[in-house]
Amino acid sequence: MEFNFFGWGKACFSCGSLFHLSGLDLCRVCYSYLEKARSPKGFSSGQNDFKKPIYYLFDWQRSSNPVLNQLIYELKGGQARKSFQILGTRLINQRILWGGPALLNSPNVIFVPAPASLSLDKARNNSAIDHAGRLALELHGLCKSRIENALIRTEAAPQHKKNKKDRQKIRLKLRSSNGFKQHPKDLIVFVDDVVTTGATALKAWQVLGRPNHFEVWCLALRG
Ligand SMILES: [Zn+2]
Repeated sequence: MEFNFFGWGKACFSCGSLFHLSGLDLCRVCYSYLEKARSPKGFSSGQNDFKKPIYYLFDWQRSSNPVLNQLIYELKGGQARKSFQILGTRLINQRILWGGPALLNSPNVIFVPAPASLSLDKARNNSAIDHAGRLALELHGLCKSRIENALIRTEAAPQHKKNKKDRQKIRLKLRSSNGFKQHPKDLIVFVDDVVTTGATALKAWQVLGRPNHFEVWCLALRG
């Protein structure tokens, strides 16, 4: 629900309340409910076959926190710039808490967003960004580091010719035929909204030339 008069801003996207909105366009009640999904740790050393660090904000179990589900859905709509900024800032803080390389103003940090769906990419003339791209843009702005929209999804074979396992295969490739330019010292940060099995991140790592320094930043990790 969009609601805007005399600078009042939006209604809480979860319950519709117009009062006490937090920066995430949630009222205080819904905001505190969202915070219940906040991960106390925010770090995983990898997911299934993917053994690279994952930094995240929320523990996600489907239907366990309706406000978190709504937030992810809201972000997919791509409207809430302020929400991306707030969540981006939190992700950076989360990463800094865990230590590691200098992230701010570093030309050695490259954010690579999870690619938009193929149809969106085509519709926007091969330069599409969606929610992962928006988040990566905010992180890039906040860190003053690099961003490369380096990956695209590729066309899958006709669905009826494939079995279930094939359908689930993730198909990514480099956007540029000139490859992905990087220095061995670079830290590649793959940005996505929800990480479930880590299969997309693993595929991204492979397609990007298996960089030594590679990590995933996401909003929610599905355990
Ligand atoms: Zn609310």
